[in-house]
Amino acid sequence: MHALCVYTSINTAMTTKLCRICRETKPIDGFHRYAKAKDGHQHYCKKCQIERVILTTDKERAKVRAAAYRKAHPDKVLGWSQKYREANREKQRAYAIAYYQAHRLERIAAQQASRKRLKAAKLALLEAAASLP
Ligand SMILES: [Zn+2]
Repeated sequence: MHALCVYTSINTAMTTKLCRICRETKPIDGFHRYAKAKDGHQHYCKKCQIERVILTTDKERAKVRAAAYRKAHPDKVLGWSQKYREANREKQRAYAIAYYQAHRLERIAAQQASRKRLKAAKLALLEAAASLP
């Protein structure tokens, strides 16, 4: 028998499988193929497998590596952020000024609206107090 035929016969025999992470029984095609496993499928469903791979390979590994690097070379990391700040000081200042100018009227309007609301709330309270016996 051809190796692939053996594999397919095992494959068709099983219709569902329990995921070891989410503990849900799912249809067998919800699991990635894995030749080393007895039933030819991963122990984790596709959804859990993807999450697991993303976490372990990308985010988590990068986080751990970055933390280790920062710990080993604190002077270097500090140097980078200082250098960046110094190199971009004018850019950052220009951005802050542009932002202020672009949003100045909005901020003033928001402050005025807030003051108006407070005043109205105060008046309503005073009226309610006055109407009490
Ligand atoms: Zn799962």
